[in-house]
Amino acid sequence: MKDQDLAKLRRELRSVDSDLIAIQARRDRLVSKIGKLKKRLNLAVVDPAIERVAIDSFIASAAKVGIDETYARRLISLVIQRSVETQTRGRRRRITGRDSMLKQLSEMMLRAERKGRRLIRLDIGEPRFRTPRAVIREAKRYLDRTPMMLYGSSAGLPALQDAIAQRLNRQYGTKLGRSNILIFPGGRFAIFASIFTTLSSLDRVAICQPAWPAYESCVAFAGGRILAVPTRLEDHWDIDLTALEETLKLDPKIIVLNNPNNPTGKVLSKNMFGEIMELARKYRTVVLSDEVYTTYSSVPVPSVLEYPDTQSIYVNSFSKEFSMTGWRVAYAVASEGRIARMRRIVETSLTNVPEVIQRAALAALKDTSTDAVTGRNRIRRRLSMACEELRRGDFEFHPPEGGFYVFPRMRRKGIDAEKFSKYLFEKYAVGVLPGTIFGEYPDFLRLAITEPEAAVRTGIRRIVKAMDEW
Ligand code: PLP
Repeated sequence: MKDQDLAKLRRELRSVDSDLIAIQARRDRLVSKIGKLKKRLNLAVVDPAIERVAIDSFIASAAKVGIDETYARRLISLVIQRSVETQTRGRRRRITGRDSMLKQLSEMMLRAERKGRRLIRLDIGEPRFRTPRAVIREAKRYLDRTPMMLYGSSAGLPALQDAIAQRLNRQYGTKLGRSNILIFPGGRFAIFASIFTTLSSLDRVAICQPAWPAYESCVAFAGGRILAVPTRLEDHWDIDLTALEETLKLDPKIIVLNNPNNPTGKVLSKNMFGEIMELARKYRTVVLSDEVYTTYSSVPVPSVLEYPDTQSIYVNSFSKEFSMTGWRVAYAVASEGRIARMRRIVETSLTNVPEVIQRAALAALKDTSTDAVTGRNRIRRRLSMACEELRRGDFEFHPPEGGFYVFPRMRRKGIDAEKFSKYLFEKYAVGVLPGTIFGEYPDFLRLAITEPEAAVRTGIRRIVKAMDEW
């Protein structure tokens, strides 16, 4: 009798499963119809506000019939992913596009250089002055004296963590210790780990744009959604606090700030930064503060570390400050809990950053020579010269207060930055990046001002000429 009961219940279950799949097919048809309509109306596939309503309503329905929120979230996440895939088919994809466009352009320039073409590289975001001598000396010394380089702690070399903590404590009056610091192979990895350990699928991330495209690809990789908070040249790239608050009402888990900003060179004032921190606190949003360009600034740069009661992750790197892009070493600062979670990513995927690199980074922090400062000052002077040159052309821009980029708008009506960048590369051997890599900025170019002075001058003159003949 019991066997018969079980068989009956199983038959019933199979019938429910078949209803489930029939409902999914009905849903697919509906999704497809909506997708066609959106395409005709030129609407984006994902509207974060509508998506949020859908998720909330699904969770509420689940609660009514006694299904827990965690399971409901997993289910709706799966269902929404399927809808997005259905509606994205046949459309131009943008989510991961910007970062790969950046990589493709860099690869194209590298290939041309390998073939012997002499280019003026105003596209590449690296300082290109000599790494401080103390760093190279220490790396050589360490290798000479170390018969075997062994595995190390996934958190980082304790002496390096301590030196970073001391430096930041001195600078910002914080009380950071080793357990708040994690060493990464590059700022990009630190940002990836910060986003990956904070987001769940379909969680939102507010990004002030224009922005370095890696943030978007990290969010896409974690299955999250971008809420763009655009800023405008007309507003001197300041963040519109009302628009930001509206975005924070959509409940993003993280807001990404990059101050000084790549590509605009904007440095947010202390007041503006404080207001943003206030909003982040109000809406309990984690602030991911990318401060890798802090030492390239002509004005004081506020830091998230000055707001210890905000949930935050601070990222900095040796790449830009000490011209160590190829060494791959950076760090994140956060609460002990967050650092422990991020550490699992390092542990799982890399074990640790090689000790010789960390010793070299420590030497950079302890270096009392002026090598790095001289390199950075030289870049700042070049930046002023670049702005003067650009003023002769048909451009408008906000003179950068920090970083080493200029982000000019081309005044010429209807100009397409992607086509113009390609033309500059092909005809004038000048590498630049189109504004579309950083957000919806199709009439902007990003120029990195790190080549020697004469090359920067020639490069910009060629851009001005190319623009005149366009
Ligand atoms: N953050 C910003 C805004 C950047 O532009 C870059 C590099 O271009 C980085 C972080 C990461 O640099 P790295 O991975 O070399 O530390």
